[in-house]
Amino acid sequence: MKKTKQLLSILLAVLLIALSVPLAFGASVVDSGYCGNNPDAEYKNVTWLLDSEGVLTISGNGEMRDAYEPWDSYFNSIDSIVVNEGVTAVSNYGFAYCDVLNKVFLPLSLKSIGDCAFENCISLADIELPDNLTTIGMSFRGSGLTSVTIPNKLQSLGSAFESCQSLEKVDLSSNITNLDMYTFLNCVSLTEVVLPNGLKRIGNSCFSGCTALKNLVLPNAVIRIDPYAFEYCSSLKTITLPQSLTVIDTGAFDYCSRLSDVYYTGTEAQWNEITINKNNDPLLNATIHYNYNPNPHIHTIGDAVIENKVAATCTRKGSYDEVTYCTECGEELFRTPHETARKPHTPASAVRENVVPASGNRAGSYDEVVYCSVCNAELSRTQVTLVPLDPPSTEPTQPAQDEYPTQNLNFFQRIIQWFRNLFARLFGR
Ligand SMILES: [Zn+2]
Ligand SMILES: [Zn+2]
Repeated sequence: MKKTKQLLSILLAVLLIALSVPLAFGASVVDSGYCGNNPDAEYKNVTWLLDSEGVLTISGNGEMRDAYEPWDSYFNSIDSIVVNEGVTAVSNYGFAYCDVLNKVFLPLSLKSIGDCAFENCISLADIELPDNLTTIGMSFRGSGLTSVTIPNKLQSLGSAFESCQSLEKVDLSSNITNLDMYTFLNCVSLTEVVLPNGLKRIGNSCFSGCTALKNLVLPNAVIRIDPYAFEYCSSLKTITLPQSLTVIDTGAFDYCSRLSDVYYTGTEAQWNEITINKNNDPLLNATIHYNYNPNPHIHTIGDAVIENKVAATCTRKGSYDEVTYCTECGEELFRTPHETARKPHTPASAVRENVVPASGNRAGSYDEVVYCSVCNAELSRTQVTLVPLDPPSTEPTQPAQDEYPTQNLNFFQRIIQWFRNLFARLFGR
């Protein structure tokens, strides 16, 4: 127990000595002073020290003083910068124009990096931005950064990377919802951009003049593309635009002479709803691929649902579609049209038509007709006869009378009459 305690105190002592002497072995102090922003502490809350190895060390608590660079006569000898734990803000213009600066160490306590803090630090190829950083201004304008990853808590980027001519790759998968004006203006080497999932707005001229950018995917949250956002992206060939988009402002895609294919995640009808302001001809001339699925996957077949149902009636068949969608992406997978049988007619009560009333000795008649009470089609028609009101007596009929009577005639006369009657019967006279 006692030994452990001893060991701990020795370690602590070594640590304290190491902290109080921030110099590398063999290095000596070139210059030092105060650079804090707290007048109550006579600006001594933050200190600076430059050693003979070109290492500028910033230590203390709180923010650095803005637009104050007491090391400005050493700009082209500062090789690396170490900002120690406790410092919360790097000042505006803090390390601008440090031509040979190539290594920067920033502490977890750092919350913001001021405007122009690393402006034109042309030898600075990479930097690790600490996790608790929430704000960057136009901090790295014209610097030599080749790639940058934005930490998660960052809310504002400013025009941080304007004219970073060597910047090739940016990973912005953070919680940023707006990209400000000029953020990547004239980043002529930029080829790989990962935008934040929740990005809603792309600022004015944000990627303007990114002449190496060949393709880009805008996440499905972007609502607005501000004026000139991608103007002069002369290599831009394909872009994926989300269905969330409502406005593409003036000149956003002007001079994007190679733009050939737009992959749009919405429908053609949704595309036509987007407000596209003037000077966006390259966009309008490109082929628009509607209903694009940016996350290819094996579809999961959902339960069939019934759509476009048309009920059958007594005059026509019914129909419906049996449709199956992917449960993951909602894409329509199968559609089978079906017919349903015609319904039977509904007979109404019979009505009488063409009624001919019976008279004294003549029969009458009428039609008994049944129509469908729904569609009025004639379903049946039966003729019914009406008996005469005074039916003729049913006496036995007389045998046919000869036309020429033979009673009271002599024999010859009877024979003549008999022939006349025979002729009358044969020839109907
Ligand atoms: Zn799917
Ligand atoms: Zn009917």
